[in-house]
Amino acid sequence: MKKIYNFSAGPAVLPPSVLKRAQTEMLDWHGSGMSVMEMSHRGKEFLSILAKTEADFRTLLNVPNNYKVLFLQGGAIAENVMIPLNLLNGKRADYAITGSWSQRSAKEAKALGNIDVVTNTEPFTHVPDFSNWTLNKDAAYLHICTNETVNGIEFDGLPDAGNVPIVADMSSHILSRPVDVSKYGVIYAGAQKNIGPAGLCLVVVREDLLDQASPLTPGVFHWKEQAENHSMVNTPPTYGIYMAGLVFEWLLEQGGVVAIEQQNIAKAALLYDYIDSTDFYINQVAIKNRSRMNVPFFLKDESFNDAFTAGAEAAGLLQLKGHRSVGGMRASIYNAMPLEGVQALVDYMQAFENSH
Ligand SMILES: *Cc1c(COP(=O)(O)O)cnc(C)c1O
Repeated sequence: MKKIYNFSAGPAVLPPSVLKRAQTEMLDWHGSGMSVMEMSHRGKEFLSILAKTEADFRTLLNVPNNYKVLFLQGGAIAENVMIPLNLLNGKRADYAITGSWSQRSAKEAKALGNIDVVTNTEPFTHVPDFSNWTLNKDAAYLHICTNETVNGIEFDGLPDAGNVPIVADMSSHILSRPVDVSKYGVIYAGAQKNIGPAGLCLVVVREDLLDQASPLTPGVFHWKEQAENHSMVNTPPTYGIYMAGLVFEWLLEQGGVVAIEQQNIAKAALLYDYIDSTDFYINQVAIKNRSRMNVPFFLKDESFNDAFTAGAEAAGLLQLKGHRSVGGMRASIYNAMPLEGVQALVDYMQAFENSH
């Protein structure tokens, strides 16, 4: 098999050992005679998979007992709608716009209720000083995106929202570093970046926030109903949950999020240090907000863009094109990207620079 490194922003690289294990268990899971894909979601085999997956996730992020973990469908974009449905209930909510994804979240919420934009940093190169945010003390919640996948911007702290619950889209950096879950009201993350295949969205919600949904909220979108039914108001994405469980086991074997954070720091430093060492490549994000997961960069001479991506592809370095809304390049270096992959990218960038 050809050796490649996949820098896609999502769906994204998975650990090879996880894929191999899924392969060996594909036809016969633990002597059941069935593939996980074929199992009833209410059978004892799948219920044991779900329970272990949730328990390992709770261990990894040290999730307090007064939080529910929901395994839902629709990805993070569907949560953009579920959040106002479940939390707004006639009140107003605060939205911080620090990149493309939080901008999208605010737009979706606006259709369902009243929101206030507490900061808007378009064209998105930094997270502004929290003291400049115009927070409302009686907001139903404050929505943030703690890692902006398109723009490569990561929060380096949290605003002090007082008693207002913080709702955070962590899709593209969940499990890449430790998080104090108790500082949040809701954390949500689509799976296809750091968790597993697309189709699954994890929602971590503080129990006292389960009682304020709009009466119009449909059952599958209703966090409380989903919590009471162990995410089985509808058939959950069973195979995605199984794959997430394998990724969580892999993460625990790596030493959990504390150990993976050290690897992520080293990988990001390797790439950013190289970008900063030359003016051939440019990253425009404020240094303290540079994402460890998504590294956008531009070639100083953009007429070389096509040659850069074509050469990268020939060298087995895939999916380096930036998001269509911003152009340029982007290397996503999630948990499953090994240091050797980042080193191979830096070697290629250096060689390309020398020959252009
Ligand atoms: C990928 C991503 C999304 C969109 O996820 P979908 O699964 O397409 O709904 C939303 N927010 C962030 C931060 C993302 O990285």
